[in-house]
Amino acid sequence: MLGRLARWMRFLGLDTLYFRDIKDSRLIRIAREQDRVILTRDTRLIQIRGVNNYLLIKADDSFHQLIEVINTLKLSQFNPLSRCVACNGILTKVMDKQKIKDSVPEFIFLNIHDFLECTECGKIYWEGSHPRKFKEKLDKIIKEH
Ligand SMILES: [Zn+2]
Repeated sequence: MLGRLARWMRFLGLDTLYFRDIKDSRLIRIAREQDRVILTRDTRLIQIRGVNNYLLIKADDSFHQLIEVINTLKLSQFNPLSRCVACNGILTKVMDKQKIKDSVPEFIFLNIHDFLECTECGKIYWEGSHPRKFKEKLDKIIKEH
């Protein structure tokens, strides 16, 4: 249910795992082992023993959920375009542009110089690969925090 929120957070460079469907016990174990905060809308989940570090998300809209997370966890360090929004992998600069020629539209390949590649899933990013509205909203958040 929080898939869109996860994407917003990753765009800001926040290390964010997302599970559409996971057993409670596994989720709780991962959170404990990796020292992560569980973000959830599930009031039942937070009552389980061992769930201490959590944030119960109240907002319905993913953008307001993001604001809620940033304000509650007092986040202020953002690093946009450092993580893959699809898989949370680290993005690295593509050194040899020719290598990604077949992975992006020709128009983009010809007009853009700097590309980033996800080290996990191989997805290619560039300045402008995220919808402009998405970026504008996040720029505002970054400025205000
Ligand atoms: Zn990826």
